[in-house]
Amino acid sequence: MLFELPKLDYAYNALEPHIDARTMEIHHTKHHAAYTDKLNNAIAGSDLEGQSIEEILSKVSSLPVVIRNNGGGFYNHNLFWKVMSPKGGGEPSGDLADAIEKDFGSFENFIEEFSNAAATRFGSGWAWLIKTDSGLQVTSTPNQDNPLMDVSETKGIPILGLDVWEHAYYLHYQNRRPDYISAFRNVINWDEVSKRFR
Ligand code: MN
Repeated sequence: MLFELPKLDYAYNALEPHIDARTMEIHHTKHHAAYTDKLNNAIAGSDLEGQSIEEILSKVSSLPVVIRNNGGGFYNHNLFWKVMSPKGGGEPSGDLADAIEKDFGSFENFIEEFSNAAATRFGSGWAWLIKTDSGLQVTSTPNQDNPLMDVSETKGIPILGLDVWEHAYYLHYQNRRPDYISAFRNVINWDEVSKRFR
């Protein structure tokens, strides 16, 4: 059993004007497809075949670096497509809204902390909202690492992630990463984030 590139729940142009169609198409059909293929090539015929991606990531320190990079890339983009929606934006409600208020003081404080993590991640990487034993936390990771990995400084279950690799925004935003981060706010699928939180 190998991993499959997931289909998106919406068209490549569905997130415009916040994220452009060309970026979405290349990101999915080239970048995510390549992470998936390289992960599959790396695990084919080994005892990792058939294990869940979460299980593989949890012991990535003992595995070849190709699995860290491409297993991370596979998992991270699976999450990324799901936590965005053409009907996204706005604010969370229910238990997630309460938890954000409790752990960050307010939704606006959370947005500020998350945006800051995304803006200050040097080079390529991801900003995350994670669920930990002690509550919600914002963090960021380099490259295709994520907080499920045993090598991650901060560990937890990612419930929201933002890709800040240049391939995620450069065609439309060029060097204006902060503009891309602001635009992301308009496409966050809070229903999906709430589902992952629960
Ligand atoms: Mn990416």
